[in-house]
Amino acid sequence: MTAARLRLPHRPRRSRPLQTTLLALVLVPVVGLSVVGVVGVDDRLQHAREAETALHEVRTAIALDDVRSAVGHEVVPVLGAAALTQPGVLAAFALTPEQADRLLHERGVSGAAGSTEATDAAVAAARAGDATGSGEVLAQLPARLLGARTATAADVDRGLTLYDQLLADLTTQVNEHLRTARSLGLAGDLASALGDLQRVSRASALASREITTWLGTVADARTVTRRDFLQVWGAYQQASADVVTLSSPGVARDWSRAQRSATSQRLADVLASVTDRDGTLTLAELTAVATGSAARDATLRSVLTRVAEVVVDEARDQADAARRELQQLLVLCGLVVAATLAGTLLVRRAIATPLGRLAAQSRSVAAGELVDVQEQGPTEVRVVAQGLAAAVDTLRRVQVQAEAIAAGELDCEVVRTPVPGPLGQLVQASVTQVLAALHEREQLQADLAHQAAHDALTELPNRAQTLVLAARALHRAARQGSRVGLLFLDLDHFKAVNDSFGHAAGDELLRTAAARMNATVRGGDVVCRLGGDEFVVLVEGVEDEKGLVDLGGRLIAALSAPAALTGLPQTQHVRVGASVGVAVSVPGTLDAGRLLRDADAAAYRAKAAGRGVVEVFDDELRAELSARSELETALRHGLETGELVLYYQPVLDLETGRTKSVEALVRWVRPGHGLVPPDAFIPVAEASSLVCDLGRWALAEATAQLVRWDVEGGHHRGLDVAVNISGRHLAQAHLLDDVTDALTASGIHPSRLTVEITETVLVDEPLALEHLRSLRELGVRVAIDDFGTGYTSIGQLSRLPVDVLKIDRSFVSSPEAGHGDLVRLLISAAHSFSLGVVAEGVEEDGQLSALLDASCDAAQGYLFARPVPAAELPAAAILVTEPRT
Ligand code: C2E
Ligand code: CA
Ligand code: CA
Repeated sequence: MTAARLRLPHRPRRSRPLQTTLLALVLVPVVGLSVVGVVGVDDRLQHAREAETALHEVRTAIALDDVRSAVGHEVVPVLGAAALTQPGVLAAFALTPEQADRLLHERGVSGAAGSTEATDAAVAAARAGDATGSGEVLAQLPARLLGARTATAADVDRGLTLYDQLLADLTTQVNEHLRTARSLGLAGDLASALGDLQRVSRASALASREITTWLGTVADARTVTRRDFLQVWGAYQQASADVVTLSSPGVARDWSRAQRSATSQRLADVLASVTDRDGTLTLAELTAVATGSAARDATLRSVLTRVAEVVVDEARDQADAARRELQQLLVLCGLVVAATLAGTLLVRRAIATPLGRLAAQSRSVAAGELVDVQEQGPTEVRVVAQGLAAAVDTLRRVQVQAEAIAAGELDCEVVRTPVPGPLGQLVQASVTQVLAALHEREQLQADLAHQAAHDALTELPNRAQTLVLAARALHRAARQGSRVGLLFLDLDHFKAVNDSFGHAAGDELLRTAAARMNATVRGGDVVCRLGGDEFVVLVEGVEDEKGLVDLGGRLIAALSAPAALTGLPQTQHVRVGASVGVAVSVPGTLDAGRLLRDADAAAYRAKAAGRGVVEVFDDELRAELSARSELETALRHGLETGELVLYYQPVLDLETGRTKSVEALVRWVRPGHGLVPPDAFIPVAEASSLVCDLGRWALAEATAQLVRWDVEGGHHRGLDVAVNISGRHLAQAHLLDDVTDALTASGIHPSRLTVEITETVLVDEPLALEHLRSLRELGVRVAIDDFGTGYTSIGQLSRLPVDVLKIDRSFVSSPEAGHGDLVRLLISAAHSFSLGVVAEGVEEDGQLSALLDASCDAAQGYLFARPVPAAELPAAAILVTEPRT
């Protein structure tokens, strides 16, 4: 992940749980509602309380007004009774005391006793009603009443004053209560009813005072003047008018009706006429006032009572209404709170609980625990839960993939199926990369293993793998009781093709050969390449050798067909063959190396037998192999113990007829075998590095012999020597050291030493030419031995690093005319390239003559001398025929 795509994690802000938020959300309106409710309740309570206070005030006012009314009723009889006992009053009314007494008792003017009782009852009722704020007034009432009554009996004027004061105080008190009730600011109907009550009460009180004041003036009281009465009268008229004009229609109508009643009219007339007449009145008039005032007062009071009832009802209604409203409000508040709580619970159930669960699951997921996510709750929560569930699902699948990868199951369905989404793509990309890398590594390992086991050119199993495959096959065969066959193929003439057309052509030929062999063998047979032009075919389940020999024949036929070399500037067709050796495993043996060696030996024999044939490794070959092995051991021992000796054969200079040099030829004086010729052991020595040891020994011995002859100082002083060096030795880098060591050890001049190399070596050993050049640079001479038996063309001679050509005995001794011509051709060609020519195997004079005719430089053969030990070397070989002149 690139840095640009990295997001720093947000620093976690302290978060409030949803429950708290919900609680706050619920509490705020509940508290608000409660406040509003409390205010409303308080208002309603206040209202109810005020209505009740008003009710109480009104009741008190009515009770006090009852008292006031009773006192007002009491005044006339009490005053009347008092007045009738006074002589002045009797005279004024022209009454005798008897008439006065009758009047007092019969005409009901007095009734003083009954009226005082009514007053006392009203006072008791008022006090029982505990009129708030009027305690003092009520407490003093009985005493003040008694005072007024007593005073009236003694002094009417004084009694009147006391009564008047008492009435005034009561009126004030009534008004006070009504004002208090009105000041409570009650709703419209009650307020107007209270106003009515106030006005009616005031008018009623003034009606009472009108009578008392009037009585004062009539009684000619000292304290009450006519003006006072007129004032009260006027006030009463005004109050009455107020009631009629200002009060509600019912009250006004009632009041008017009471005013218009006969009693009221009569009373008004009496009061008006007496007042007009300047204070004198008749007894009838007095009686009329007494009864009229009582009647009027009763009527007015009935109005007041009705108004009071209305007010009380109204106040009670309002109090009830307020209480009802309070109840409703409380119920409403309760309902709202309950509903809110229910709503909260519902929200909690519907949102908070699923959200809480989701939060817990998210926390688990964040902690790396891939829990199941329930998709419950409202849409939004559900959507979030679905998202989380999808994320968990993705993570689970990624986990499964990771587990599969960790378990090494890289190619399973789980890993191959991509997880949807960007994460899945990313994981898939990583998986693909990992898989690709692993596959690449596996492929690389497979390739390396293949490379280690296979030949790069032909893709066939290589030598090491051949041994592995052969070993496996042998194990299988051992278990199954069967046998394993091995065909060893050596391409014939491959080296000639390689040298003539180059390595690329050689490679192409090898590929063609491999393909042809693969096409020829059966399925199950394995073609391998050991290296060079050596191949092997491994065959399992072999029954007899015949099948293998047949296969060998088919392989030879396939390989012998002309092969095209297409990589050349011009396509060439060459024909190679093969020599095939067949070996079959000995039942029970597990030695793959031995099987391979046996087949190799058979192939070797096939090659020796003339190429293009199949040879089976049989008992004869086995015996031969063991004899060779024995011989090799003995030879190694003989070389170490000095059983080998060098024989020397003179080489005659045909110009002088004298021995100019000798060829050193090895002999083995093998105990129990006599003198063993080199042909009997050199091939065995050439199979191993033994031939190199032999060559080193021969170089040292031959050069040492030259020194000995030099030292002897006889005929052999100053002779040159030719030493045969095998191709295997020539290929070794240490050959140069061996030559240098021999020269250094003997101290002879390098030009006295000639190294003889057979012609075929030049073809077989790639390093041969290079080493020959190095030898010549040392000053050592090089001779090509057995020339004519190989494939070297005369034209190639000019490029070869050689000094001498030794023509093979088969040409020299051949009676065929063509061979004589060939020898002559060879000699003249060699001369034209400045090479010396030695003819080998000269046995007859005729041969010598021919050589002399052909201007051959030198010759060796039985005609002159056989190879002999150093001590027996003839003094000088004398030509039988005349030397060339
Ligand atoms: P070569 O180098 O061609 O040696 C000449 C062989 O021809 C010798 O056989 C010699 O005895 C034989 N010979 C010489 N004149 C006549 C003749 O007139 N008639 C007949 N029939 N044979 C004649 P020899 O000594 O048995 O050697 C055989 C081969 O052994 C040599 O062939 C050479 O290739 C090899 N050889 C001998 N000594 C050595 C050695 O020291 N090292 C190596 N690497 N090879 C050796
Ligand atoms: Ca030789
Ligand atoms: Ca030779």
